Amino acid sequence: MTLFSARRQLPPTAGLTLQWRDLAGKRADFSACLAQELGIPPPLLTCSGTAALIIALRTLQQRQPDRCQVIVPAWTCPLVALAAHHCPPLKIVPCDLAFGSINFDRQQLSQLCGPQTLAVVVTHLAGRIADTEAVLNIAKPQRAAVIEDAAQSMGAKNAGKSVGLAGDMGFFSLAMGKGLTTVEGGVLFSHSAEIQRAMARQIADDLPSHRGWELRRIAELWGYRLMYHPDRLDWVYGRQQRRALSRGDAVAAVGDDFTVNDIPLHTLGGYRQNVAAAALARFPAWQQENRLRAQSRIGELEQLPGVTVLQDGPQQQGVWPFLLVLMPDSTTRDYAMQRLWSAGLGVTRLFIHALSGYPTVLPFCLPTATPNAEDFAARSLSISNSHWVEDRDFEQIIAVLRDALSRSVSRRKVNSC
Ligand SMILES: *Cc1c(COP(=O)(O)O)cnc(C)c1O
Repeated sequence: MTLFSARRQLPPTAGLTLQWRDLAGKRADFSACLAQELGIPPPLLTCSGTAALIIALRTLQQRQPDRCQVIVPAWTCPLVALAAHHCPPLKIVPCDLAFGSINFDRQQLSQLCGPQTLAVVVTHLAGRIADTEAVLNIAKPQRAAVIEDAAQSMGAKNAGKSVGLAGDMGFFSLAMGKGLTTVEGGVLFSHSAEIQRAMARQIADDLPSHRGWELRRIAELWGYRLMYHPDRLDWVYGRQQRRALSRGDAVAAVGDDFTVNDIPLHTLGGYRQNVAAAALARFPAWQQENRLRAQSRIGELEQLPGVTVLQDGPQQQGVWPFLLVLMPDSTTRDYAMQRLWSAGLGVTRLFIHALSGYPTVLPFCLPTATPNAEDFAARSLSISNSHWVEDRDFEQIIAVLRDALSRSVSRRKVNSC
């Protein structure tokens, strides 16, 4: 192998690419640009989505200091649980999903939500739109707040309105891989001017500017501009992933091997805001392309027997960073992933475990039964919706899925005789 022979590696999600002229950092009001583009109040900006959630939780704690539980979907980003660790004495209560859905199991949510509940976190996973109305109906009688975690769904609209406006507060993530990126960054807002002011005060108290982190993130942002391309991504992403997989560490392979100390708290610097504002000009057209690509590929995936792809309901217009696919069973999913995970085709898994399956977050979680979340973790895989996933790549993925499905059919025949 020579120094310059890199394997082709497709990114696992559709990230909005940066252009060199974005990095010129022409002065712009990023918050105002986001408000205009998304139809939200001018949002507050933080160093990460996790920091935005911490600010949201601390703001709520000021109002209801006696409440010490936050209910979250049992299948979500482990950082959500780690955020609670930064808001003592808050405990995480994982609530199961409805079978095969990103929505809560409503019956369990009703049982878990009570006078000790500070907030319920509704999560718009994978660009899809979760049922916030149903959660408000359960949470409001208990005087629990509703936070919309739209980390993966910036730009998604429900009945023409941005996600994040139905609940008490909402946030987006600008982390790498979530779409528009500042390497790390968070966007926090509320339809209520009063809550928004309280969150702004909380940020003034809790998030200092931090030169060291800012310089590091700026360097990483330039690195993203340089390396975010199928010819170079293997150096910074593919290799690490293969190495993690070869030692059997699936959690590290998807980058979810966080520790409680991984959460810096600071502001989002002005230069990175300017870069993101420049890239935001391409956001609407890019989302439209993503939508069209997703629609045609979903059509093909749905031809496969027993395979479902998470999609939008009526009135919903989600976003498409990747396609979240449910296979009929975990054996078929695992068989397909054995062939696809290291193939550089942008196929991976979202969260490896239900929350209580991560040793780092287990200490902050109350024990609940979450069989549907575990089923989701066992049967799901994600297919990148990057424009670099060409039709021939997608056909290769479809062929592997078809093969995995036919094997599982023949296996079932053997078992039944
Ligand atoms: C990524 C993510 C977060 C955390 O956002 P960061 O910007 O990475 O801190 C929270 N919730 C969900 C569902 C996520 O995917």
